[in-house]
Amino acid sequence: MGTWGTGDVDVTIDLVAGAHRIVVLTGAGISTESGIPDFRGPNGVWTKDPAAARLFTLQNYVADPDVRTRAWQTRRDHPAFTATPNSGHDALVALERTGRLLALITQNIDGLHQRAGSDPDKVIEIHGTVHEVECLRCADRTTMLSALDRVAAGESDPACLICGGILKSATISFGQALHERTLRRAVTAAAECDLFLAVGTSLTVHPAAGLVDLALEAGAPVVIINAEPTPYDEDATFVIRERIGAVLPALVGTAEPGGRTA
Ligand code: NAD
Repeated sequence: MGTWGTGDVDVTIDLVAGAHRIVVLTGAGISTESGIPDFRGPNGVWTKDPAAARLFTLQNYVADPDVRTRAWQTRRDHPAFTATPNSGHDALVALERTGRLLALITQNIDGLHQRAGSDPDKVIEIHGTVHEVECLRCADRTTMLSALDRVAAGESDPACLICGGILKSATISFGQALHERTLRRAVTAAAECDLFLAVGTSLTVHPAAGLVDLALEAGAPVVIINAEPTPYDEDATFVIRERIGAVLPALVGTAEPGGRTA
């Protein structure tokens, strides 16, 4: 990662301080310091085990009861249920409290922004949440915990209690369309912002990554904070290759000695 205190960080601090309609797009990289691995970073789930991606394909999930059984078995161990927010999440809460955060769009499913204290109305979870389950037939939603209790009680593939349909975590799998209303909110925010921060995302998953294009088209400066290069680096106003938990508090002016470090 780059050197702390580079010119880009200093200029970005001024950009953040001067903006009034900031949109932040976060990805898995903001939660790695909470112990949740990303997908494509050096220690990413898929970097280490490319076959794991199969579990996340809607088509396989629907077609194959064994895939569902495996998904439910591994779900209980998902680090999102025990992880706590880190200083990156905290910094975005502080930014919101300045009244200048238009929206916090996240690709993450871990709920850590809300646990850190971000206003749930500001958080747009474009890839859903692992804390709920949804019926693929009637769209009824219940808590993940209640589904996991049924799995613990012996149901290998718990069905919807309303209609008997297939239940799945309320996350967007590959091959599954994003919820239209949620995507629309994200698109509107990206098109209306006066500063767009992309934090901890490889910007390779669409339509999420395309939100950067919308901000650019709207004339907003775009700052990418990510350890590794992204396809949008050339278009960005600034690219900061720093550890998110360290750089984000500095960008929003909340870096304090003794503050949460990870
Ligand atoms: P990604 O795995 O494709 O990319 C994450 C990026 O973050 C990488 O480029 C990596 O270099 C960078 N990064 C990791 N830790 C960092 C740190 N501490 N400081 C700076 N940079 C860091 O993630 P993505 O773009 O969000 O796409 C992955 C998809 O997987 C998303 O749809 C998301 O829903 C899902 N996912 C979510 C979680 C979660 O909820 N925490 C975890 C894994 C995957």
